[in-house]
Amino acid sequence: MNIHEYQAKQLLKSYGAPVSDGRVVLRAEDAKTAAGELDGPLWVVKAQIHAGGRGKGHFKEPEAGEKGGVRLAKSVEEAETLAKQMLGKTLVTHQTGPAGKQVNRIYIEDGSDITRELYLALLVDRVSSRVSIVCSTEGGMDIEEVAASTPEKILSFSIDPATGYQAFHGRRVAFSLGLEGAQVKQMVALLGNLYKAFLEKDMEQLEINPLIVMTDGNLKVLDAKVGFDGNAMYRQPDVANLRDESEEDSKELEASKYDLNYIALDGEIGCMVNGAGLAMATMDIIKLYGAEPANFLDVGGGATKEKVTEAFKIITSDKNVKGILVNIFGGIMRCDIIAEGVIAAVKEVGLQVPLVVRLEGTNVEKGKEIIKNSGLNVIAADNLSDGAEKIVKAVKG
Ligand code: GDP
Ligand code: MG
Repeated sequence: MNIHEYQAKQLLKSYGAPVSDGRVVLRAEDAKTAAGELDGPLWVVKAQIHAGGRGKGHFKEPEAGEKGGVRLAKSVEEAETLAKQMLGKTLVTHQTGPAGKQVNRIYIEDGSDITRELYLALLVDRVSSRVSIVCSTEGGMDIEEVAASTPEKILSFSIDPATGYQAFHGRRVAFSLGLEGAQVKQMVALLGNLYKAFLEKDMEQLEINPLIVMTDGNLKVLDAKVGFDGNAMYRQPDVANLRDESEEDSKELEASKYDLNYIALDGEIGCMVNGAGLAMATMDIIKLYGAEPANFLDVGGGATKEKVTEAFKIITSDKNVKGILVNIFGGIMRCDIIAEGVIAAVKEVGLQVPLVVRLEGTNVEKGKEIIKNSGLNVIAADNLSDGAEKIVKAVKG
């Protein structure tokens, strides 16, 4: 689960991290008051979307200006104008994809004077099963570029959970970033606080880009991107409250209400499968036959008819879906339940695209009979590759 920059900053501030004063604005008419509460003489107006690269992004609407989702203003009035221009517009960055994201919140911040932009991140390293620290002197907007062309400029190491965070970790980061004197102490404290926040709040990713050195020599967190482990949200009610559902894929949101494991993708074949492994294999084999899956969907072991119906509705609500492949191996899941769910859903929402059904396992004969007697135009398949081949053929001709 992701949160907005301003929420991340509030959270990190509560752990003692230095951040600028700022105000979040949801309505254009509040922008002037918000900016007026900050000192100036520089204001930063920042689009709040769950994607990075805002500074170098562009708006779809020309009236929002060309220059991206992070802009500097020299007066309260200018800050207000910028906030008004951005609110409600669609910002496209290298992380949003070409469709972009609508800007529904603006963060107006007290501007900082920057001498250096550094990069600092904490993340769960699956290889070492530890929290890793990643830092670089080349902070700012193009860390992906740094990683690709000058990887030697990035330092990465992990923290042993047996010892936890130690001051030498912080000093190692500070020296590799070329910090001196009081800055080293600041870094030791900051990294310790970030590590504590990371563990206590079940974060998966905490990226500060940039961490700045200001003209007065102090460090400050100028941007913050935080992602949490969705499976831990039951024990993080404060974090769960920060969820902004408007930032999430509406189909994934709907699926999460029914406890379906659904991930939207951009292909044309909708998939309804039971079991994560079979779902992955189904996606692979669709690709093998020359098409792309529109989603990953694991309806789970003990799915009810209602759950299957909802899953089918979510698939058919996707405009990109040109055909559907139902691939069920009934172990715990019974084939007749799947068949009933599919038919109930088709009766409710209709079927505008070809549907291939492959059933195998428990109650398979019953399931096939239900489908056969339904009068629906279903293409039956015998096995996985047969199913994939048939649906790709039905869609692509
Ligand atoms: P991102 O593009 O989504 O990563 O947004 P950031 O919050 O990282 O801002 C992008 C860039 O805007 C930063 O790298 C800075 O160069 C610049 N910027 C952001 N805040 C300030 C500020 O307070 N003062 C100045 N001078 N520049 C800023
Ligand atoms: Mg940034």
